[in-house]
Amino acid sequence: MTDEAFFSALAQPGIQRLRAYDPGHDLVAFRRRFEGPDSRGRVLVELGSNENSYGPSAKAKEAVLGTIHASYRYPDPLGGDLKRALAAKHGVDPASILLGNGSHELLMQFAQVFAGPDADVVASQHGFAVYAIAAQAAGAALRVAPCHPDGHAMPRGHDLDAIAAAIAPSTRLVYLANPNNPTGTWFGAEAFAAFLAKVPEDVIVVVDEAYAEFVDAPEWASALGFVSSHPNLVVTRTFSKAYALAGLRVGYAIGHPGLIAVMERVRESFNVNTPGLAAAEAALADEEHLAWAVARTREQRAALTDALRARGLTVFPSQTNFLLVRFAAPGDEAQVAAIDAALIDRGIVLRPMGGYGLGHCLRITVGDADENRRLLAGLDEVLA
Ligand SMILES: *Cc1c(COP(=O)(O)O)cnc(C)c1O
Repeated sequence: MTDEAFFSALAQPGIQRLRAYDPGHDLVAFRRRFEGPDSRGRVLVELGSNENSYGPSAKAKEAVLGTIHASYRYPDPLGGDLKRALAAKHGVDPASILLGNGSHELLMQFAQVFAGPDADVVASQHGFAVYAIAAQAAGAALRVAPCHPDGHAMPRGHDLDAIAAAIAPSTRLVYLANPNNPTGTWFGAEAFAAFLAKVPEDVIVVVDEAYAEFVDAPEWASALGFVSSHPNLVVTRTFSKAYALAGLRVGYAIGHPGLIAVMERVRESFNVNTPGLAAAEAALADEEHLAWAVARTREQRAALTDALRARGLTVFPSQTNFLLVRFAAPGDEAQVAAIDAALIDRGIVLRPMGGYGLGHCLRITVGDADENRRLLAGLDEVLA
């Protein structure tokens, strides 16, 4: 009797229906299964979690080592140095910045603060999975706006008109990702401005820009440029992707100082740890390393897209460091699961997309040239 169901029935209603975030395959188990690391200590070709294969700035690694002696101290609860560095970079006041243990934590907290049983949440079909979890955990209903159809220039991407239309009088929070994970799709500044004009001022719009650094589409612009004119807009960024610090868990939000002050009420005092704060600050200062890693990623993104398309696969347009790739007709999940399993047997780990309603697709992180070569060789075997 005392199983998970017993305790689930004791939880608040939103949590009773909640399923935990699916982090993909068990990489630690796979790493044990495969022997013989490559020259960089890598055993598997791990292309499932949109990490940055080029690694962080050497200065960030040095900064982490420099904090080890202070591990017995609590971290700076204000994250003052990092906030000031971010404020200078983005031309905002430090009071506009909220630091998170990764941006995932902040995405959860927006719903905790602004949504609830009487305050619902709008997100797009195929939007990042955390938004639905955040809404449910807060006990809020989620209104899912339909995405663009296949065949559209941004297939399965955010349809801003549909998202605006899904906003009801009971809506308090909208989550957008630009570009979006797992589709890789994006929307331009003009479309976003038209969208914002339709959103009531008592509806908070969160724009998740986890992949902003990888974008080179000329029509894209960061939502940060709209924050000063739209107090209900808040933008999240992360050090996990382009800055390659996923293991240290640092993200941040930029918004109106009043909105940030309300969010601060639920922030755990020491949510960002000392090595994370130091590494993020050092990584931010090393613009050269960031530019190098982003340039390599864009090159590899284009090359991998071409290579996959040359094999007859449909690759969704992407401005991120990953590609959503269609391996079968919609609904044909079994065939794609078999491809995924055959790749794992070859030490190649991608991300299954069943949880997103895209089980006919796999999501592939753009690795470095060596990883992408190994991926393509494995795919050629499996698809033959
Ligand atoms: C990876 C990712 C994040 C970042 O999560 P962190 O908690 O900062 O590591 C946020 N949003 C999206 C859409 C992502 O893909």
